[in-house]
Amino acid sequence: MGICLINYAHEGSAYKSGALKDGRILSFEDMGLQCGSVYDCIFKHGEDGVNKIRETDFSKGLKVDEVEILSPFFSTPHDIICVGLNYQAHKDESQSFLSNKELYSTTDAVYFSKRAYKITGPYEDIEARTDLDDKIDYECELAIVIGKQGRDISEENALDHVFGYTIVNDLSSRTFQKRHGQWYKGKSLDGYTVMGPGVVPKSEIMDVGNLNLKTWVNGELRQDSNTKYMMKSVSRLIYELSQGITLVPGDIIATGTPEGVGQGFNPPKWLKKGDVIEMEIDGIGKMRNRLV
Ligand code: MG
Repeated sequence: MGICLINYAHEGSAYKSGALKDGRILSFEDMGLQCGSVYDCIFKHGEDGVNKIRETDFSKGLKVDEVEILSPFFSTPHDIICVGLNYQAHKDESQSFLSNKELYSTTDAVYFSKRAYKITGPYEDIEARTDLDDKIDYECELAIVIGKQGRDISEENALDHVFGYTIVNDLSSRTFQKRHGQWYKGKSLDGYTVMGPGVVPKSEIMDVGNLNLKTWVNGELRQDSNTKYMMKSVSRLIYELSQGITLVPGDIIATGTPEGVGQGFNPPKWLKKGDVIEMEIDGIGKMRNRLV
């Protein structure tokens, strides 16, 4: 594991922001970087910040098990942009649940947004609102973190606008998702975006188009796919979304989930309180959350 930008808490202190390298953690302040958050580092320092982290000796840093790793963003400048049905096998398993059957036949990307008032950290408990909707489902997704503002970005230059990547669990309330015409309400309950463990700079990822994604629920492997099966690649999504829309640093694009969500089983396997969900993407890390 290389470099990862994180928020963390140590011995009950207020949270700090910094980086994880070689199993050790230093704050941005320790590295002489003037920035109060992961977002701030991306916005103010970008690639120079990554180079500074790379040059810094981390041998005196805190060990990973001495800190609590928090979400890299507690909220985002805008709602999270999401891509629906971006893996064919997930599209197939979802076909019978789609209230709008045209979504199945189109080859165009499905875009929607997800409110992120409160983002759940990578090891934090998830507050399950089963009182509102007990059909809670998980979705493991590669998420793009935008690092450079742009509009009408070409596919060739798309990756220039990426700072890095993280994991998003796009938790979904399936009853709400179906009931309200659009998916917004079903995707947007407080805490239903789980993110982390940190933001991995793009230079640490050799090929974003070939990363394994996995989800386990109570130790049972449910999702096991690879980003090579995405129908719209990272570059294609940035190109399409930015036509007429300005993307800004800190914008998050969740690129869609592969097959194996709870809804796709017969009968469906909805999440229950007490369940432990683990998600892992090659080169980015692993999250572990309990539903409470
Ligand atoms: Mg999703």
